[in-house]
Amino acid sequence: MKMRIVPIGDQATLGDHRHYPGARLLLVCSLCGWDKAYRAERVIDRLRELKSGGHATRLEQVARRVAWNCPGCGRVKWRCHFAWPPGFDDREAKRLANLYRN
Ligand SMILES: [Zn+2]
Repeated sequence: MKMRIVPIGDQATLGDHRHYPGARLLLVCSLCGWDKAYRAERVIDRLRELKSGGHATRLEQVARRVAWNCPGCGRVKWRCHFAWPPGFDDREAKRLANLYRN
C-alpha cells in the first residue's frame, strides 16, 4: 500500500506538518519512485542541530539537500512531500486534529 500524499506542494514548510496530524515527511525519487518516510519533527531537529534549517525550511529545499544516491536507481533527484501512512483516512485525521486542539 502506498502513502497518500498531502496535496500542498513542495513550497510548504516543514513546520506545516502541524496542520496535517499523522502525516510523515516522504522523500521520493523523481526518477524511479523509491520512497522513504521520516518523522517531520526529527528532520526539523536534525536541521536545527546542523544550523541549516528548521520549521521554516521549504520541502523543496529539504529535497535539494539530500545528497545520497537513490537505492532504487542510483541517481540523485529527490522530491519531498507530506504523506499519510496507508490506512490513515480522513476520519482518523479529524480525530487527531481534535485531539491536538483539546
Ligand atoms: Zn530512484
